[in-house]
Amino acid sequence: MKLEQIERHRLLNGLTTFGIGGEANYFIEVRSIEAMQQALRLCAEQQIPFFILGKGSNTLFDDRGFAGMVIANRIDFIEEIKPACWKVGAGYSFSLLGTQTARQGYGGLEFASGIPGSVGGAVFMNAGANGSETAETVESVEFVRPDGSLVTLTREEIVFDYRFSSFQAMPGAIASAQFQLTPQTGSREKQLSIISYRKETQPYNAKSAGCVFRNPPANVAGKLIDECGLKGFSIGGAEVSALHGNFVINTGKATASEVKALIQEIRKRVKELTGVELESEIRCIPFNPLEAGCHDT
Ligand SMILES: Cc1cc2nc3c(=O)[nH]c(=O)nc-3n(C[C@H](O)[C@H](O)[C@H](O)COP(=O)(O)OP(=O)(O)OC[C@H]3O[C@@H](n4cnc5c(N)ncnc54)[C@H](O)[C@@H]3O)c2cc1C
Repeated sequence: MKLEQIERHRLLNGLTTFGIGGEANYFIEVRSIEAMQQALRLCAEQQIPFFILGKGSNTLFDDRGFAGMVIANRIDFIEEIKPACWKVGAGYSFSLLGTQTARQGYGGLEFASGIPGSVGGAVFMNAGANGSETAETVESVEFVRPDGSLVTLTREEIVFDYRFSSFQAMPGAIASAQFQLTPQTGSREKQLSIISYRKETQPYNAKSAGCVFRNPPANVAGKLIDECGLKGFSIGGAEVSALHGNFVINTGKATASEVKALIQEIRKRVKELTGVELESEIRCIPFNPLEAGCHDT
């Protein structure tokens, strides 16, 4: 793989569910673990900062884009390696995985149905819903280090917490994950009720990145935002959803600056009125990787 072959100036707004973002200086889609290894090796040789993109459902790119290489992970194989145990490429749809396994009568990932991310993004974020989280079924993860080497980490070698995994502090790319599920009567009904509840309570078809804030200890961010009268409040094209207080939606032509300004304003008002400091759950990716993103503050 040579730098001259890599696409330049790719607009990022079509690659995230927010629909926002300027151009990536370099852009590549990788469809195999080997291609991911090559892309990371190239970045290391050329000293180009990189960002691994899944389905972009928890990501806010900067209006100026990204001054490095965006590597879109499209490694999307799925393999049942023993009964109830799947090895899945990190680019595979997490929602589809939840639906497929529930349909086959396996429990553990019913909550994934309707989460519009990739398997890699779900492991990285320890995505969760309805009292379950990704960590509960992960057995091991294949990970490509920045030098291109591939390692397998067992569950015991990975730290998971609420919307946290140790991958958030590890440069490199999740290539695949192995999930161990359990045979479960009623898994399909559970998955169907989760998806219909989601569609009733969330602005599911709007442009958003899901919940903007982490739930504070023993509290619910959306409820606090609602109690502060912020539902429907907007800055430019960025608006607090009238349906769910923890969703910021792009009503059409919102910019990243408007979304960030709205996030700051929500934090300020919730702090003034309730004393609670909200922390960002979404990943704001700075143009220059040396700047802080809003998830770092
Ligand atoms: C309508 C809607 C509903 C949602 N509901 C939920 C919910 O119920 N629960 C929940 O937890 N989240 C929810 N989300 C948020 C989001 O879907 C999850 O966080 C999801 O796991 C993100 O996956 P992704 O592939 O889109 O990640 P991206 O947005 O592409 O990336 C997110 C972060 O993960 C990193 N990353 C992604 N893939 C890899 C990889 N292969 N290797 C290394 N790093 C990687 C990125 O670098 C980035 O920092 C929702 C979002 C939307 C839009």
